[in-house]
Amino acid sequence: MNAAFGLYLHIPFCRQRCHFCAFYLELHRDAAAENFLRALHTELRLYAAKKMTAGRPLRSVYFGGGTPTVLSAGQLTRILSAVRESFDVDRDCEITVEAHPATVGVPDLSALRRAGVTRLSFGAESMHDDELVRIGRPGATADTVEAVVAARTAGFTNINLDLMYGLPGQTLESWQRTLSACCDLSATHLSCYALTVEDGTRLAHDVRREPSRAPDEVLQVEMDQAARRMLTAVGYARYEISNYAKPGFECRHNLLYWTQGHYLGLGPSAQSFVDGVRFGNIANLAAYESALGEGRLPVQDRSVLTAEERLRDAVIFGLRLERGIPTLHLNHHAVNYGYEKVVTLLHTSNLLEEEDECTRLSAQGQLHADSVAEKLF
Ligand code: SF4
Repeated sequence: MNAAFGLYLHIPFCRQRCHFCAFYLELHRDAAAENFLRALHTELRLYAAKKMTAGRPLRSVYFGGGTPTVLSAGQLTRILSAVRESFDVDRDCEITVEAHPATVGVPDLSALRRAGVTRLSFGAESMHDDELVRIGRPGATADTVEAVVAARTAGFTNINLDLMYGLPGQTLESWQRTLSACCDLSATHLSCYALTVEDGTRLAHDVRREPSRAPDEVLQVEMDQAARRMLTAVGYARYEISNYAKPGFECRHNLLYWTQGHYLGLGPSAQSFVDGVRFGNIANLAAYESALGEGRLPVQDRSVLTAEERLRDAVIFGLRLERGIPTLHLNHHAVNYGYEKVVTLLHTSNLLEEEDECTRLSAQGQLHADSVAEKLF
């Protein structure tokens, strides 16, 4: 288990909603942003006074959303100052800001760099304008190129691009050209996510009307294999099913999620896991602000995990990592839940493989990671 401690800050605003997106968010308004900032400061102060955060320096801070960069660099800097007032922050803390490429320029990025931000994560999604239009993602691919150049000018060396595959109208060739364009930009980290159709999204509505817009799972497997081939050939390591990094640029904060590290999530809908307890904030900005206005934490769900449940989560998330998990952990989990035959079958079906007392997904297993996880849950 991982003893590192991280902080996630959910900035619940975007300028508009992309067709595939099911995250909790509100459309950005200046006044709403200021009210949110006041509530977030209160939440930081309430947690700073709690025993669970005492003597635990932050190893990572992650601004996610939503689109954190719809807030001004000044507002993000104020949040970071409030974090430093409330928590000990490690000298080499990884501080990531997610950014929409069209929302940033050199002055803002320079200000974030001066404030101590160490890593930028741009939601590029695709390097083809027609594909962006079809998923309702605002902005153009030229914005991504300009944002990466601006980030470098501002002094950032740790840059991630989020990409998606299986988009309506996307072909294997166009996906490969997207990957190639991102390699040319020399991003140090690439996240490649298979598009999924989430209930309640505009995409789900479009797919009901026009089923051919649904992602083709066979093509997505080919795209996943192409990503692995192309990216590993130019020096990226696939360290998690959806994540590739140049050596030394793995995302420390996201590794917390896959290695049972402890993290606090602040902001509406944010999730936390601290000392074996999972808890989550209410996914409603007004209710979030109202609770904090009364001096209460806006926590809605809370569950204390048993030792068996903690091990189960360590197995399920750990198998997403290239290095896998200790075989001993998998065997204990199998005994806890009566899954011994399932584990044997996963091995004989060549979905799991073992080396040096560690078990991991085989190349075949990585293509079916979700169904392997379901069998072990
Ligand atoms: S920018 Fe990101 S968070 Fe905002 S709607 Fe699009 S996918 Fe969702």
